[in-house]
Amino acid sequence: MKKQFYFVSFFLGLLVHIAFLFFFVDGLQAEFSKSSRWRYIVIHHSGTRIGNLQIFDNYHRRRGMKNGAAYHFVIGNGTADKGDGQIEVSSRWKRQIEGGHCRQRWVNKIGIGICLVGNFDHTRPTRKQMHSLVSLCKLLRSRYYIPLSNIKGHGHIKGEKTNCPGKNFSIQEFKKMLVEEEQRTFKISD
Ligand SMILES: [Zn+2]
Repeated sequence: MKKQFYFVSFFLGLLVHIAFLFFFVDGLQAEFSKSSRWRYIVIHHSGTRIGNLQIFDNYHRRRGMKNGAAYHFVIGNGTADKGDGQIEVSSRWKRQIEGGHCRQRWVNKIGIGICLVGNFDHTRPTRKQMHSLVSLCKLLRSRYYIPLSNIKGHGHIKGEKTNCPGKNFSIQEFKKMLVEEEQRTFKISD
């Protein structure tokens, strides 16, 4: 009898422990993902000569995206009434919701989508666009602790099957600019 009692209480105790662990770990994970949802930066080109956030918003809505423009940020090239290098913030960013800029959902959930207007198979991003991209990524990186290796050109993500952001956009060159800018800012001078 006594033996049975110990047996039952041991298992009940174990159950309580497991339940507690599940609850606690689950809570921890939720807290973690809330604070660090954004773990990638994905760079795109629009593939069009002209464009702005509104134009992409209309286009993506027509294609059935109810949340509109697929990107979180759009960097203008001086066409469609937007400045060269002007950064537009999409409603997806304002609402902190996932993008629609990649084919794979897991990327959209944790990747910040930035689109530079232009077709970089034919032209190059402007100096001002690159400058804005550097500033924006510097800010996002410092806020969300995104490692350099998690900044990707769209086509460099496994399974995406695209050459976006175009053959003339060099991700290596961009990262070099970004690192130089970050070092310049944080350099301690005497
Ligand atoms: Zn893309």
